[in-house]
Amino acid sequence: MRTDHAFDILVVEDHDFQRRMIVRMLERLGSHTVTQAANGREALAALSTGQWCDLLVCDLDMPEMDGLALLRHLGEARLDVPVMIISGQPRALIESVESMARAYGVYVIGTCDKPVTELTLAEALSRIEERLPSDNEVPGATLTLEETLDAIARAEFEAWYQPKIALGSGKAVGAEALARWRHPQRGVLGPGMFVALLEQSGHIDELTATMLVQAARACAQWHATGHPLVVSVNISLASLGNAAFADSVTRLVVENGLDPAYMNLEITETAAMADLAPALENLARLRMRGFGLSVDDYGTGFSNLRQLTRVPFTELKIAQNFVTDAAERPAHRAILKSSIEMTHSLGMTCVAEGVESAAVLDLLEELACDQVQGYHIAAAMEPEDFGRWLDDAPRH
Ligand code: C2E
Ligand code: MG
Ligand code: MG
Repeated sequence: MRTDHAFDILVVEDHDFQRRMIVRMLERLGSHTVTQAANGREALAALSTGQWCDLLVCDLDMPEMDGLALLRHLGEARLDVPVMIISGQPRALIESVESMARAYGVYVIGTCDKPVTELTLAEALSRIEERLPSDNEVPGATLTLEETLDAIARAEFEAWYQPKIALGSGKAVGAEALARWRHPQRGVLGPGMFVALLEQSGHIDELTATMLVQAARACAQWHATGHPLVVSVNISLASLGNAAFADSVTRLVVENGLDPAYMNLEITETAAMADLAPALENLARLRMRGFGLSVDDYGTGFSNLRQLTRVPFTELKIAQNFVTDAAERPAHRAILKSSIEMTHSLGMTCVAEGVESAAVLDLLEELACDQVQGYHIAAAMEPEDFGRWLDDAPRH
């Protein structure tokens, strides 16, 4: 269980005995340098010396400056320190503080009820190890728009596929195309590295086009080998402002051999449908042409209920935040249950994303969710691996 790296860790806890216990456990887990603070003020003083900190273990209820104020200061000072929140307070309160910390821009790697165990600390440390730059990643180097656009033109962007399976039968019914950049120096990069840049610079359509083409061809190929799946492609809201978008999507898909009835377009709900009229026109036209329309990450955006009624959606994907831990969190289970019921009353298909365990899979089956997607079934795979996975999966 010992870590390979030696970390600098700051433990902020007012209770002497509990603090000493945590320090002892951390020392058993590796040759880490552990600094101690009895409240937020002492912690800030330690950090203000410029001392490097790989992990901050933070209690909430402390005298002088409590954990909430400390988290606010960390966020405001833009100190990029991973934080593990520990507390004896009720779960709902700890989770609310976690959301608060994230809203302040703090990187929370985990929360833990007291008493803290060696296992939870070990998990936190292994998550920090995963965060260390790997050999093929240049730390800190950001990607420029120019090199990103060049890479799209050179066809370095690939669609990888993550299966969606039907609950009940367990059969594969679809796959979501997820963008990956096979960077010649930096290895395979995920959408977190380039989607926002492309959206903000007005160039997301270049990525969307290559994803649509690859997904249409791949899906036609699956059909040819006896797998009648539906393929899903992510669409940015930014694209919907242009009234010609629906026609160009249809052309790309049809020209590449796929009937639009076998393609779902996933749109993340947000309040900011700035150009509402052209967005509604595009979505209505796409639906008329036969495309499925999916609400992505349901529950994380705004004005969701209003949008559900004005766009002809066919599918709703519940955001993974509510799914992954639903077996342990009654509040999330309640949200799942009512979202599934609402989706069905609206005549839509319900998909749960982020299914990482058999327990959650069983729960979703019990709640009559239609389809699931998540690491418990499979992560996104390169096209060849996905093809092999399909051949091995239960037949339709
Ligand atoms: P999304 O559309 O909600 O896609 C699901 C994300 O969750 C994917 O991350 C997927 O790899 C990840 N995931 C799948 N199963 C699990 C699980 O069990 N647990 C956890 N924790 N995560 C899981 P990925 O590929 O990094 O994509 C992130 C987001 O980037 C996507 O979220 C989507 O919004 C965006 N994106 C991906 N490809 C494209 C694209 O071609 N165009 C646009 N505009 N956005 C894209
Ligand atoms: Mg999606
Ligand atoms: Mg999603």
